[in-house]
Amino acid sequence: MNYKILALILLGLVFGYNLFLQVISYLAQNNPVPDNVKDLYDAETYAKWKAYHRETCGIGIVSLIASFILYLVLLLFDVLPHLVFSQNPYLSMITVLVFFLSLDAVVSGVFSYIYSMKIDEKYGFNKMTLKTFFADQIKSYLVSVLLMAGLCSLFILIYEKMGDWILLLFSGVMTAFLFIVMFLYPFFSKMYNKFTPLEEGELRTRLTDLLEKNGYHVREIQVMDASKRTTKSNAYFSGYGKTKTIVLYDTLIESMSVDEIVAVFAHELGHGLHKDVIKNSFLSILQMVLLVFLAWFTVRTEGIYPDFGFAARNYGLALILVMLTELPLLSPVFSFVVGLVSRKAEYRADEQAVKEGYGDALISALKKLSRDSLADLSPSPVEVALTYSHPPISQRIAAIEEYGKKIMQQ
Ligand SMILES: [Zn+2]
Repeated sequence: MNYKILALILLGLVFGYNLFLQVISYLAQNNPVPDNVKDLYDAETYAKWKAYHRETCGIGIVSLIASFILYLVLLLFDVLPHLVFSQNPYLSMITVLVFFLSLDAVVSGVFSYIYSMKIDEKYGFNKMTLKTFFADQIKSYLVSVLLMAGLCSLFILIYEKMGDWILLLFSGVMTAFLFIVMFLYPFFSKMYNKFTPLEEGELRTRLTDLLEKNGYHVREIQVMDASKRTTKSNAYFSGYGKTKTIVLYDTLIESMSVDEIVAVFAHELGHGLHKDVIKNSFLSILQMVLLVFLAWFTVRTEGIYPDFGFAARNYGLALILVMLTELPLLSPVFSFVVGLVSRKAEYRADEQAVKEGYGDALISALKKLSRDSLADLSPSPVEVALTYSHPPISQRIAAIEEYGKKIMQQ
């Protein structure tokens, strides 16, 4: 079997699947809007939503085609072997990988530019200056090159020394690495944003009371200057154990009433009480182990290197094939399972807010959040099942009301 033909077929399948997702998302704009969210947008905003949706889908499709062409050219015309200047496994991996990641960053950078600086800008979401945008892009590029080249070097080191034991050893290394990254996440996010402790006042008192009542400890409640980049608002937990902090976007504090902020906070607390962060980490570990297995399997398939025009084994090529063909084929399965678990966790976290007496405030907060981000009110159920980490807003509101009634009856 020719591995190049196989890889091109897989690449085509991945492209077809992603195109399918964009198309069903595009078509869903004509779905009827459920009754409980009809008041969310007025006619003018709804028209604006449709236009925003059309533009993001359109540019999504163009960006898929552009990346597909780039990958096709690189693989079909044996471009990558020209980047090998040395038979040293580390050097030949690094030149191939860095070349690939740089081209990929340029293409995806162009589309991020169009998304943020053109489309979001046009609809009033974007707050980034050109300088912030380019600084973000360059930082992300450098972080990804260093991480990938570093991990791949470690893979080579272990594989060349220990052979197939790598499956066990590297899985362990990757798991440790995952925890370190999550542990260091607060430090990474400081590269992009400023964090300040939430100032004393009614909001802080009520949030602290809520935490104490549930016996939940966090080190700090912080406010992030998200308004530097976006008008969209959010809140999340970061860190583990003693370093755990809750981060509120400054946009959340500016755009919501105290009740609504406490409701969103109670939802996040629900995630905390159910240890959803840790459960997600286990799913990520499973994904990591699978990634190691795929990398190991690909690297030791000696037939692929000559089929792609390489004179010897190249770890960079193996990693690129895993990223472009194998992982994206498996990730729909993962994202289906992860989405299922995550949507369930969202319902449960909403229930926490209802239990604290913030059901109505949560509904109005969710409506504001959806309005501010021009959320899709009636997404395709297929798209929800395949890709959504959160249930659509109308189903969340229905569940919150249902649960509220159930509590009242008790
Ligand atoms: Zn949530």
